[in-house]
Amino acid sequence: MDYRVEIEFLIHLKSPLHIGTGVGLTGILDKTTIRDKRERDGLVYIPGSSIKGRLRDHYEKLSMIFTYSITSSCYGQNNPCRKARIEDCCAICQIFGSPFHEGRFNFYDAEIDKDSLIPLSEDDIKMFQVDKRNANMISRSLRITRPKRFFTTEVCSPWLVFKGKINGTITLQNPKGVIPAEFALLMASIKFMDRLGGAKSRGIGVIETRIEEAKINGSLIQEKEISESIRNLQ
Ligand SMILES: [Zn+2]
Repeated sequence: MDYRVEIEFLIHLKSPLHIGTGVGLTGILDKTTIRDKRERDGLVYIPGSSIKGRLRDHYEKLSMIFTYSITSSCYGQNNPCRKARIEDCCAICQIFGSPFHEGRFNFYDAEIDKDSLIPLSEDDIKMFQVDKRNANMISRSLRITRPKRFFTTEVCSPWLVFKGKINGTITLQNPKGVIPAEFALLMASIKFMDRLGGAKSRGIGVIETRIEEAKINGSLIQEKEISESIRNLQ
């Protein structure tokens, strides 16, 4: 059976957030925060690829804990499903992709949620959205001795709120219940996301997420049903 899944969620920053332009590669030494390269509004955003990476991490861990709820799973990309059709692969491969198949889900860039930041105007947000941070502190924490080398790192201001969106279709052979475990795990993974970006040990990149709207095959799923389905996994 096919399930068309759509989820919107808010990401509240609880500390400054640093997402370098080379997410996960250049990490903390990257000087500039990623900005809207589409040059539409110049506002910072969180790339969908960062969100996808964190979600995959949580989803794999949760799948391992609740493994009996999921018919077949491959953990990590070490031993991915080798089915010819993506529809026959496990939820992890279907949602996030594998070396053999492209994932069936879209992870959109999370953009600043202006509604959450009223009464600030777009100009206010633009003026205060980033903050400079002396990265010398960061290199010290990594025990790198680099006297006389100072980096300034741009970080997103800790009060920003972003709106994220993911959607896609998942095919399940033996779904159980109205809200299948594979879907509940995805919702749980979003709720468990508490970090983003680089420099994780320095009190940077702490986030809190809230699910705004979730739909399966066009029908709204209530918050209560979501928590119930997550509880039922245990
Ligand atoms: Zn798989």
